[in-house]
Amino acid sequence: MAASDYQILDPRFRRLVNASAHVQKLWSGCQWAEGPAYFPAHRSLVWSDIPANRLMRFDEAGLGVSVFRQPSGHANGNTIDRQGRLVTCEHGGRRVSRTEHDGAIVTLADRFEGKRLNSPNDVVVRSDGSIWFTDPTYGIDSDYEGDKADSEIGASNVYRVDPATAAITIVASDFIQPNGLAFSPDERHLYIVDTGRSHGDEHPAHMRVFDVEEGGTLRGGRVFADCSAGFFDGLRLDEAGRIWTSAGDGVHCYDPDGTLIGKVLVPEIVANLCFGGPKRNRLYICGTTSLYAAFLLVNGARLISASA
Ligand code: MG
Repeated sequence: MAASDYQILDPRFRRLVNASAHVQKLWSGCQWAEGPAYFPAHRSLVWSDIPANRLMRFDEAGLGVSVFRQPSGHANGNTIDRQGRLVTCEHGGRRVSRTEHDGAIVTLADRFEGKRLNSPNDVVVRSDGSIWFTDPTYGIDSDYEGDKADSEIGASNVYRVDPATAAITIVASDFIQPNGLAFSPDERHLYIVDTGRSHGDEHPAHMRVFDVEEGGTLRGGRVFADCSAGFFDGLRLDEAGRIWTSAGDGVHCYDPDGTLIGKVLVPEIVANLCFGGPKRNRLYICGTTSLYAAFLLVNGARLISASA
């Protein structure tokens, strides 16, 4: 790709990217690539190919790509918790699962008040161990990326799993289709995407920002940004609190003040991204059929506790 891999919309973006560090296509062959999660100890990236019902793995040192898990329960969003374990949203299993260090896969959440979840989409773990996830209907709308079914809950909510009691509570209930989510580095703010537009032009394609209260509740929820190209989906933040989010023409970067300051241009629709590499300065990008990566001049927010 050419020097135009980056689109600078605001001078503040210029010092975040190196024009000679091109966007690289690392691998191609997915039906719909999603949910990248980087494992520093293994120097590997795990991501989802949702319709193909498999989790993939990129070996950053050896450069090989292989199947990590199949079937994957039509896995979608992945993250690592503070202990470095894989946490996965599964459309097929209609649950959030965790892969333990011994390889066992345990269920963290699959029901709310006795009713099955819709199809958990994306997940993030706070430093207190609480697990926050979105539950839109994409995995039960058809048989393409899950198993077609009616919603038992009848709503698409955002949930929190308490780290001490495993109790599941609703933290936001006013979304059409809640999707990607991520905390600010100080964990005082939570950004959540609504991709409701996929279910009607009257619905939003935007990102909201909430204040995180003591005790694990949310307040506020103003619209932070409307997507100017397709849909936001997954997002991550860098150390300075800038928001790097997927969009129809690549990765959009927002200053915390809400300004779209620049783009990493990708030739396919981007669904999700994460920071990786030993220095967290490599942006891994899931773009429809392919895995891309670009070295940036900024570092992603730390997700694993150094002492964990
Ligand atoms: Mg998503």
